[in-house]
Amino acid sequence: MPGRPGAGDDGGVECSDVRTAVSARLDGEELPPGVPGAVLVAHLAGCGGCRDWQERARRLKALAAVLDLG
Ligand SMILES: [Zn+2]
Repeated sequence: MPGRPGAGDDGGVECSDVRTAVSARLDGEELPPGVPGAVLVAHLAGCGGCRDWQERARRLKALAAVLDLG
């Protein structure tokens, strides 16, 4: 059920922690401690801001791959 600003039912992680984890996942790295996959998924399910951020990060990474920047 979406629409609860500020979250709170996702393990208490902050958006900044989630975005760090999303970035790590996109890079194929291990998730940071404190943000296990289930928490990450739950937060993304309830936080549009982080979903948007993930989409942008994904696009940026795809673009970087095309340009061979890493
Ligand atoms: Zn968030």
